[in-house]
Amino acid sequence: MRLKEIHSSDLTASCPKFVELRLKGMTRPAATTALYRGLVAGESMRLLHERHIHGGTEPALYSMLVSEAAAIVDATLAAEGRLKTPAVEASMSDVVTDVASACEKYWMKLQPRMSKWTLLGCEVPVRWKYAPRYPEFASHIDCLLRDENGGLVVIDWKWKAESPTYQYLARNMQMACYYACCFEGRFLLNDGLSTEWVSLCEEPRMVWLQLPALLPFGRKTRCEDDKGMEVEFSRGDDRPIRMAWKEIEYGHLPSTVDDIRAALMQRARMFKNDIFPQNPDPVGCTICEAESFCKRFDTIV
Ligand code: SF4
Repeated sequence: MRLKEIHSSDLTASCPKFVELRLKGMTRPAATTALYRGLVAGESMRLLHERHIHGGTEPALYSMLVSEAAAIVDATLAAEGRLKTPAVEASMSDVVTDVASACEKYWMKLQPRMSKWTLLGCEVPVRWKYAPRYPEFASHIDCLLRDENGGLVVIDWKWKAESPTYQYLARNMQMACYYACCFEGRFLLNDGLSTEWVSLCEEPRMVWLQLPALLPFGRKTRCEDDKGMEVEFSRGDDRPIRMAWKEIEYGHLPSTVDDIRAALMQRARMFKNDIFPQNPDPVGCTICEAESFCKRFDTIV
């Protein structure tokens, strides 16, 4: 398969076979609930940062902010010819309630530190030509900031049911590529000042922000608090912020970017040679947008 670009979503899909079918255009033009909730959460966080955290005022109503974000997502999906599934329509009020609660906690827990930082942009386009004759890496970084010491911070907002382990994060190709892009890639900052692609050439702090972990505990739980003390939390208690704010340490070695480059080149060679191993998942296949195109071996019609 000839590829002009590799996108971050090609590197982290749970099923490589899905990547093959998507690249061939063989997916239903539909948005599943998980996808929709993630899009609305991302758009809500963008509005929260641009208008409020760096604009100085707390939203009057978080549910209004999320409803506005949902309207923007709906318009984008409609422009792309993608339909919301009946399951998305049925869960709309849950999506707004959950994301509004996460926005409120985001404000309470993170606004005090992040309001002192400078926003370089949300949904920032980034590109990395990591090797000659290989397809360029292309993506959008959810949130790019400078902290109070001038350090670069990359935040990726995630709405996933399962909280990632550190072992998973340390191998996550999307985060690794964003890290390498900060040294060698180009960015189109939407900070209101930049109009051209720029290189940053500096080491970033890399943060996976697990948004559902901003919501309170749903049941009694015993775990470490933010001071490392074993504590019993009750239903409704706030979770420790370390459960949401997950920073990845990349070793600070000159070889780290070369290791990421080598892993990305390997993925590119696999895609070029049509190697997309089938790796079905009993739950994932049920809700997969490519399911009706994907070969199956049973005899049930
Ligand atoms: S139906 Fe299953 S095996 Fe096929 S692309 Fe989707 S997740 Fe992968």
